[in-house]
Formats: sequence, structure tokens, C-alpha cells
Amino acid sequence: MNKCCQARDSLRAQACQTQGRMAEKLIFEYSQKGRKAHTLPDAPPVSFGLPERKGLRLPEVSEVDVTRHYTKLSQQNYGVDSGFYPLGSCTMKYNPKINEQIAACEEFAEMNPYEPERFAAGLLKILYAAEQMLCQTFGYARFTLQPAAGAHGEFTGLLIIRAYHLDRGDTQRVKILVPDAAHGTNPASCALAGFQIVTIRSLPDGGVDLNDLKKHLDNTVAGLMLTNPNTLGLFEKNILPIAELVHNAGGLLYYDGANANATLGLARPADMGFDVCHLNLHKTFATPHGGGGPGSGPVGVTTALAPYLPRPLIDFQNGKYYLNNDRPKSIGKVHSFYGNVGVILRAYAYLKIQGSAGLKRASELAVLNANYVKARLQKVYNIPYPQICQHEFVISVKEWKKQYGVSAADIAKRLMDYGYHPPTIYFPLIVPECLMIEPTETESKETLDAFCDAMLKIATEVKTNPELVKSAPHSTIIGRLDEVKAVKEPDLNYFAGA
Ligand SMILES: *Cc1c(COP(=O)(O)O)cnc(C)c1O
Repeated sequence: MNKCCQARDSLRAQACQTQGRMAEKLIFEYSQKGRKAHTLPDAPPVSFGLPERKGLRLPEVSEVDVTRHYTKLSQQNYGVDSGFYPLGSCTMKYNPKINEQIAACEEFAEMNPYEPERFAAGLLKILYAAEQMLCQTFGYARFTLQPAAGAHGEFTGLLIIRAYHLDRGDTQRVKILVPDAAHGTNPASCALAGFQIVTIRSLPDGGVDLNDLKKHLDNTVAGLMLTNPNTLGLFEKNILPIAELVHNAGGLLYYDGANANATLGLARPADMGFDVCHLNLHKTFATPHGGGGPGSGPVGVTTALAPYLPRPLIDFQNGKYYLNNDRPKSIGKVHSFYGNVGVILRAYAYLKIQGSAGLKRASELAVLNANYVKARLQKVYNIPYPQICQHEFVISVKEWKKQYGVSAADIAKRLMDYGYHPPTIYFPLIVPECLMIEPTETESKETLDAFCDAMLKIATEVKTNPELVKSAPHSTIIGRLDEVKAVKEPDLNYFAGA
């Protein structure tokens, strides 16, 4: 056994010991030569002409071993179905199971993406209806359903902004203004789309600094990217003057609508003056996400920008839904076929079930829940933006870091001992030692109270026993990982007997 495996195995054994458990075996360690998970009737062997693979070390196990293996893995995971998941900006709301059933219908799930249009009429009709509902809810002329995630939507929207300016011969517009509170994907998407990024300062109250904005507005600005409510969970009250300033300078407004959970049925980005907007169906519209996908990031635009949307769009003419590729100004395709259809179907089901009244209610409850948790924690935790929040709010433990040496990450780790998924930490970047809490509308008052109780207990621990918090978690299989190493050098192989 090589050194690395030895180190890992002893780590595993140690972790189990601290919890008073036997070390759990890996599936490879259950392997017995010749053991199988199936019995097939005796039949002459069939040759598929595949080359023989020698030396492939696969575990030879029974069906019950396989079942236990996967069940154990699922239990080691933490999802919104296992407990409260207040991951700010990620909107980990409950995903209704009926959405899963609908997306799994074989009429959708087993459809071949190459199926001729005339056999895909049902799906086209649903996608068209989903687009219509998004247009109504957010105030846009058209949406493309192709982008596969929020960041992909941003990239698509920025290409549309570029195409618009170039089409008008406005070739000097190379800059996108991005407030310092923005999600990290915003500047990244700008860079990928070939724009220069100009950072705009936020004011102490969390809003955009209008004077700083004015300073940067000239004929080299292609647009401004804004999240509203922003990543501090605050609604930008000056959005109308901001939109006017940007438009007067010839720029366009891009709405990062990844977190639309506070504004459904209450405020529409198109009415605020945003020309382009992406949504995260996987956040706001209750489809499962985390671990990197799949997602869906539809992009909506005003009538003036509709010609540049990716092709094809789904159109309806002479009683038929069809893929309209006749779009000469389009930026082209950004995803194969129809986009991530499974996610769109789940979101469609959610939209249909909620209706416009339900969406509004969801937002009202999301805002109420966030303000309730904030009000309970405010007595003990420092909340740097104390005004009424939208769907989320931020805490700063900067002072506790100085006084007790306890960081935001330590508190996040300690929450795991209380059975909660930690909130988002160290984002937005403008708040030092930041914890960002988004409870969502799908949690009961009892759940919120239990979470607040845990947070308040941890606050007491910070002051009376900081070491306990700094060495957390104490209840998980593995304690603290070297997170950078885990990302840069993932060691996912098992070398039996190596
Ligand atoms: C999640 C998020 C994004 C990015 O969305 P992905 O689907 O993860 O690419 C962008 N902006 C904000 C504000 C977000 O919360």
C-alpha cells in the first residue's frame, strides 16, 4: 500500500474512532473473487467483439453489498431533503417531489433529442408556455431557455449586449460596470465575453454609490450588471435613477436574477429598467441543485434585444409550435438541442402549481422568514446592514475574530455539529468574516427557531469556549479538510494492494 493510501486509511480509522464507530469499509474491501450481483440463465456466451480489458480492478460484490454501499453514500451526503440548508444566494428551498415525477415521465425523459419536430410538439408547447410565464413574471418580450446555469446565462446576456452595440456600429463600448457586491460569476462572465470590468463602489448602506457610477459613465460603457436585491439582501432603492443614468450614457442594464426569490409577483426587472436578465430556475423555481448541476439559466430581453437571442426560439404559427432558426441577428446557439429540459420541466411544474398568486406568496414568506431569523440573531450577532432585508441577510463576526480568534468558517463548521448545513461564508467580499443566511419560504417557524437557538448557543460557545468552535466539526466522518488541496489534488482512486 502506498503512503498516500496509508495516510488516508489511518485518517478514516481515526475519524471513526472519535465517533466510536468501526471503520467503514470501502466497496473494494468487500470484494470476494467470483461474487456477483446477478444470476443469468445458462446460455452460450455472446461475443460483442470488444477488446479484452486486463487488470481492471472492479469490486466483486453481491446485490446487498451494492445496495448498502449506495445507501451509505447517500447518508453521508447532506441535502435539502435531510435538513435545513440556509446557504445564502443559493436558495436551497424544498424541491416538491411532483416536479421529479413530471420530469421523469418517459415521454420527456426518454425522448431522443434528434426526434423530428413534428413528434416533439408536446414538449415544444410546454417550453413555449414556460417561456410565456417567465415573460409575464419578469416583464420581458422573449426568453431563451438554452443556458445551462446562471453563469452561462450571464455569458449569453453579455454576448447579446455586445451584439446590440456592434450592430449599431457602437464599437468602442468595451466596458461593463460591476458593483463590488456582485457575485463572482459577474466579473468572470464579463471577462469571458471579452469585456473590461470596472468595479463600482457600494455605499455604507449597501446601495450603489451614484457618484462613483457617474464618474465611470461614458461612451466606452456597454452596460451595468446589477443584482437586485443585491447580495447583501438589500433592495437597490435608486434603481430607477441608476437605469436612467446608464441608458442616457448609451449603456444597457443587465439584471443578475439568480436570486429572484424576494421579488416574484412584487417587482419586475423589466419595469426597473433592466434590458437583459438571467434567472436561475434551479434556485428560484425549486429544482434540485448543488454539486455542480444540472441547472438552467434562461435569459430574457426587451423587444429591442430579442433579435440577438440565441437560435432557435420556439414560435407558434398556423396552429403549430416549431423551432424558428430564421434569426439572422442571433448570437448563435449556446446549448445543444433545447437546453436542460429536465430542469425546465420541473420549473414549469412549479410555476403552474404556484400560479401568480402563489409566486407572490412565496416571495412574501421568503422575505418574512429572513427577517424573522435576522431579528432573532440581531440581539447577539453583528448585522452590518441592519435595515429590513429581502430574502437573505449577512452577519459579520469580524469583532469576534479579533477578540476570541473565532472566524466565520469556525461558526459554519460548528453548525454542522448541530445538524445544519452551514450558510454561505466569505461572500459578499465587501463584508469581512461574513455569514450569509437565506432561510427560504419553505421552512416552518419551528425549524427557523431551532436554527436560531443553535446559532445563539454557538455565540455563547464563542465567548465561553472558543476552542470548541475552532476545532469543530466534532461529529462528522472527516473533520477539517485542506480545502485547496482537496480541490487541486483530489485523490479519488483506490489502489487495491498497491
Ligand atoms: C448562484 C448565483 C449566480 C451563478 O449561478 P450558477 O447557476 O451557479 O452559475 C450568479 N449570481 C448570483 C447572485 C448567484 O447567487
